[in-house]
Amino acid sequence: MNATAQIAQSPVSVSIGALIERCRSEIATHADRLNGLDCAIGDGDHGTNMLRGFDALLAERELLNALPIDETLVEAGRILVMTIGGASGPLYGTLLIELGRALGSGVVNNEFSSAFQQAVDAVAKRGKSKGGDKTLLDVLYPVADLLDEQHDIEGLPGMAFAFAESTVPLQAMRGRASFLGERSIGHMDPGAASCALLIAAVCRALNEGCRA
Ligand code: ADP
Ligand code: MG
Repeated sequence: MNATAQIAQSPVSVSIGALIERCRSEIATHADRLNGLDCAIGDGDHGTNMLRGFDALLAERELLNALPIDETLVEAGRILVMTIGGASGPLYGTLLIELGRALGSGVVNNEFSSAFQQAVDAVAKRGKSKGGDKTLLDVLYPVADLLDEQHDIEGLPGMAFAFAESTVPLQAMRGRASFLGERSIGHMDPGAASCALLIAAVCRALNEGCRA
């Protein structure tokens, strides 16, 4: 089944609480690695920041589970802005808030991909950044394109990791890593790495129809 069709069916097959648990667990497992990536080209806190945000989502999972999907996304985005902090908090927060606003109350097949694209554009605007700047946008934009092409959900995690990998040869143009200039080349962007992990976790959860 293609990704957008599967996402459209998700309200019946996957609980928001289970999705939050999966994402939090993925970030917890890889927090040290994300801190390590951020140590190389930033200040070493990206894994810690992300874990703080997903711990906060987990604490609010019952409230988030009870809301309509658009309100869940907006509220989850607000929580991430308040708790992740750093540069990435407002960016991940904007992604979820704008996705919720763009979706409205019903997730209709084919509308998800355009809502996702709108949300990614809002992240770019917020960060004054674009694809190729060595940020999480280097994962979000190509994933948005795959959703638009009705790509199979099974293939998305592997492609998301490949997009994160593709930030290694880039020079950072935004955020702390940009202060390093050419010395930022040769390292994976930590935000791109966390983004790939989260996309993979969400895809796997949707694929398995997890309700835990
Ligand atoms: P901080 O840099 O404030 O310590 P984090 O370490 O949590 O925040 O997040 C760093 C990540 O945020 C980067 O790896 C990059 O992906 C993303 N990022 C930083 N600034 C921008 C920006 N202006 N636009 C898009 N993404 C950005
Ligand atoms: Mg950092």
